Amino acid sequence: MVTIREAREALKLYFGYEQFRPMQEQIINGLLQKKDVVVLMPTGGGKSVCYQVPAVVQPGLCVVISPLIALMKDQVEALLANGIPAAYINSSQNAEQQYQIENDCLEGKLKLLYVSPEKLLSSGFLSFLSRVKVSLFAVDEAHCISSWGHDFRPEYTQLKALKQQFPNIPVVALTATADRLTQKDIQEQLYLQNPEVFVASFDRPNINLMVKPGRDRFNKITEFISNRPKQPGIIYCLSRKGTESMAKKLKQNGFNATFYHAGLSAPLRAKAQEAFLKDDVQIVCATVAFGMGIDKSNVRWVIHYNLPKNIEGYYQEIGRAGRDGAKADALLFYSFADVMNMRNMLQENETDKKQTELQLVKLERMQQFAEAAACRRRILLQYFGETMQKDCGNCDICRNPPTTFDGTQLVQKALSAIARTQERANMGLLVDVLRGARNSQVIQSGFDKIKTYGAGRDVNTLDWHRYLHQMLNSGLVEMAYDQGYTLKLTEQSREVLFDGKQVKLVKFEEVKQAEEAAAKP
Ligand code: ADP
Ligand code: ZN
Repeated sequence: MVTIREAREALKLYFGYEQFRPMQEQIINGLLQKKDVVVLMPTGGGKSVCYQVPAVVQPGLCVVISPLIALMKDQVEALLANGIPAAYINSSQNAEQQYQIENDCLEGKLKLLYVSPEKLLSSGFLSFLSRVKVSLFAVDEAHCISSWGHDFRPEYTQLKALKQQFPNIPVVALTATADRLTQKDIQEQLYLQNPEVFVASFDRPNINLMVKPGRDRFNKITEFISNRPKQPGIIYCLSRKGTESMAKKLKQNGFNATFYHAGLSAPLRAKAQEAFLKDDVQIVCATVAFGMGIDKSNVRWVIHYNLPKNIEGYYQEIGRAGRDGAKADALLFYSFADVMNMRNMLQENETDKKQTELQLVKLERMQQFAEAAACRRRILLQYFGETMQKDCGNCDICRNPPTTFDGTQLVQKALSAIARTQERANMGLLVDVLRGARNSQVIQSGFDKIKTYGAGRDVNTLDWHRYLHQMLNSGLVEMAYDQGYTLKLTEQSREVLFDGKQVKLVKFEEVKQAEEAAAKP
């Protein structure tokens, strides 16, 4: 077996780095021991090294499955430049080229081969692979396999075939974005065998998080940018047209801006990207197509002109700011009209009822984040399964905390209702139970017989929803997307139910007033 020392030498020799980052070493150790591994690490955390080093030091070929054909070329070129024989196979190549690469694999000339999932599962490819000595499969962007993720790609689900065909070859699944359920789903879908799971911290404490009401947002934006002269930044807009009109308006106001979206020709996109990288242009107005694979460490701010579709996307996008670790700002504009727009869009474009339902719930979580009055970073990290011990001190809420009240009793009522309904109620049903509603669903499920039935009558339905979302945001309950969106107890809820832990809740009225005051010019 190859030792970690040899791996360390390879890191130095091929990549020029003195040492592994802490988690890299453990991950590579696991892979060298032929274990399956799941890696959750934010963008820029150093995921590639985790499979590239084992690929180099072990005999055989490491097959990397990646959905991003555009990025494969860059990756391969970087490897070749480091003296590591690598190639990619995808539909952009003709049969002759593909044949040549397959031949190189059979002759053992390559250490890494990048393929798209479509190619991997195309006819004959797996049987071709069975003639190659494969050392490791690396599944990049592994969240795409989960229909609970935010970027589900049906072709990914076929990757089940890997473990079936190659039960003894280790698989490493890597992603920079997966909520808790998606993390679990990745392991199940890929049939990983007792995988070692590594979750790096997703905290980016240098990014200051802010949410502002959407009213009059253009003026707020120009003021924001004027306070940050020459600082490079990105404004994310919902539509391609939106990016163009935003750039135009900014230019008319004397700012140095351009736009970027997937509808532009490749040369135009390259040009915009290049100008931003070289600081020739200060501001890029872009759709979410912008940013993937862009390595610019000094982006000082990110603005979301519109509410993102989900927290995963939002977190990835703000993560493009402040990669150098220096102070950066993330500003999100929020208006209820945006939410309605997004809801309509989701419903109009429905192709799969279940997916739409999931996306609506994820949008609701996003909305609740924007409306929340608790430390924003705490909410984000909780979403990805990380609990913070303290509030962050670097978000608008921490700087300007809302008034809270002792919500222990309220929370206890909700939690005990969840326990007594055996965690089988979704939010709507739970509120009905708490409020003592007599509708058919309550009666049929027999929940009108439980002890907490009607115990929360004094709180109206809308407020219950808001309190429950506060509880979700802080990890006091969890929502099981895969079980009819039912609410589940967590470790933290047990502390409240059984250990008498106190909980503070935020008063909505004051939050609303504060927001309205902030919206006034
Ligand atoms: P990810 O795939 O997680 O987004 P990358 O693999 O692209 O991250 O790595 C991000 C950056 O960190 C790259 O520039 C990479 O060369 C660098 N890097 C990775 N591992 C190390 C290390 N052990 N020491 C120093 N730099 C590293
Ligand atoms: Zn905070």
